[in-house]
Amino acid sequence: SNIVAIVGRPNVGKSTLFNRLIKKREAIVDSVSGVTRDRHYGKSDWNGKEFSVIDTGGYTVGSDDIFEGEIRKQVQLAIEEADIIVFVVDVEEGITPMDTEVANLLRKVKKPIFMAINKVDNAMREADAVEFYNLGLGDHYTISSINGSGTGELLDALAEKLEDAPEQENELPRFAVVGRPNAGKSSFINALIGEDRNIVTNIAGTTRDSIDTKYNRFGFDFNLIDTAGIRKKSKVKEDLEFYSVMRAVRSIEFCDVAILVIDATRGFEGQDENIFWLAEKNKKGVVILINKWDLVEKETNTMRDFEAQIRREIAPFTDVPIIFISALTKQRIFKAIETAVEVFENRKKRIPTSKLNETMLDILKQNPPPAYKGKFVKIKFCTQLPTPTPQFVFFCNLPQYVRDPYKRYVENKLREIFDFKGVPIVIYFRKK
Ligand code: GDP
Repeated sequence: SNIVAIVGRPNVGKSTLFNRLIKKREAIVDSVSGVTRDRHYGKSDWNGKEFSVIDTGGYTVGSDDIFEGEIRKQVQLAIEEADIIVFVVDVEEGITPMDTEVANLLRKVKKPIFMAINKVDNAMREADAVEFYNLGLGDHYTISSINGSGTGELLDALAEKLEDAPEQENELPRFAVVGRPNAGKSSFINALIGEDRNIVTNIAGTTRDSIDTKYNRFGFDFNLIDTAGIRKKSKVKEDLEFYSVMRAVRSIEFCDVAILVIDATRGFEGQDENIFWLAEKNKKGVVILINKWDLVEKETNTMRDFEAQIRREIAPFTDVPIIFISALTKQRIFKAIETAVEVFENRKKRIPTSKLNETMLDILKQNPPPAYKGKFVKIKFCTQLPTPTPQFVFFCNLPQYVRDPYKRYVENKLREIFDFKGVPIVIYFRKK
């Protein structure tokens, strides 16, 4: 997998670098949702290779009262969980004792390490940067996260260490069960595979860290991405939000459909939302399971209200299946898997170009984008791209005038007509 962690002491410019590395995509997500989402995780690509970026600094409490121990823990986790590490230092401050300490940790690591010497905005700084070579870490890059100089070179070098997208071993759906600690993930998996555990094969995944296990249950064949097996159950780690996010990132990277388990007694909270957006940003299918439904006192509209609240939080990607289950009583666990398989199929769906144009062009003609400065946008042709997940291009005369609300309208129409339940879709407007 390609998980890049940005580490370093506070205020060296980790978040600025992070924003620079993921900028484009993040901006799109935010303009669509209109809400600031989790800003510590992003998806990006460079030279044709995709990678995830995590800003470890985002997970410390606040920069004033950070304990050194806390930073050390973050770095340690990043070393264990990420594939590539970018160590950021600050040329204005020079080498601090904390930098030396982080460098000492990193020097023992076998994974690719890139030292980014930040705030190098001019030639003088370039000379100052030489000091950092003393830290004895292989590759250094002088950058300015603010103006972007040097980050291209850093990314070029980094991309060389990234893996190519893994070949799909078979066409079976790959499901990852994700969620916060104690939501009931293990219970759900146990309820699902039961005592008559029906494991067909064990296939080592694309890296030593992931094991796909093939199951045949309820008449379906599917792979469960088993990250639980490699989880070192230590209380300290489980408590760290950063750790749970790392875990979720890794299992989501490997899956087709993320099965997000929510604890009904706690509701849909910030951390659940973060995991949901991880899946969305990775263009994975999503099914939401509201677990422990047996514990909830029901009144007439309990289910409906619960569902409505979640749909508000996840707008505009609202047609995600939400299923109320109990891992304890096994209520609807079959339905959960059946639905995940449907979402898997939806994600592979290809709409023939002729059919797409026949249906969509008429609709869009009747409800065209609003005129801008007296100019009218005319949509002439549309097609679905041959990508692994649904992406559509609409060709028109003035793509720059098509705003987000209209893109959302088009997305909703596509969902209504062709049923992309549970699947993120991407829409582009381009000049013919
Ligand atoms: P994980 O950390 O997400 O894997 O959560 P676990 O599967 O370990 O479950 C956490 C706790 O919730 C355990 O005590 C389970 O027995 C309990 N639990 C899980 N699912 C259910 C359920 O559907 N109903 C009830 N009543 N308890 C559940």
